[in-house]
Amino acid sequence: MSNRAVERAKRTLEGFEDHLPIDVEAIIVAHNIAIRKRPLEETVSGMLVVKKDHATIGVNESHHPNRQRFTLAHELGHFLLHSNSSSVFIDASPIFFRDETSSEGSKLQEIEANAFAAELLMPENTLRRVINNQPLDAFDEGAVRRLAAQFGVSTQAITIRLTKLGLING
Ligand SMILES: [Zn+2]
Repeated sequence: MSNRAVERAKRTLEGFEDHLPIDVEAIIVAHNIAIRKRPLEETVSGMLVVKKDHATIGVNESHHPNRQRFTLAHELGHFLLHSNSSSVFIDASPIFFRDETSSEGSKLQEIEANAFAAELLMPENTLRRVINNQPLDAFDEGAVRRLAAQFGVSTQAITIRLTKLGLING
């Protein structure tokens, strides 16, 4: 279901995957998308607005930098995967607003955008190389925290990622 999102993230990463943390802002700029950092309502993490000749990603600068990075990657995912179905994406919990598409379609788009963001910020191959394919001990908080810092993501995000890839022993 989210395979196409992962494949798209892998292609998008080409040339960017060896420098950690992944420079998500440079990737976005390379797509000619403008980034606007603004203090937004607490529930709003970010948004994507696609116009005929340009696109803008807005991110809530009040949120933790790691969360902002995930939001930026998530919105880029919407741009690359979904901007044919909708031109405005507002990511606010618990509701995701769209100008088109059904709620079921929106749910799938969120899953895809999250899968895209996870692969973009924590590329599977890079992650495996960094930890030498040795699963981490879930209770070794220091190791998990260091890995999260290296990739510029939250410990929660890296833990979920490691779990999904079978790279953590709990
Ligand atoms: Zn979204």
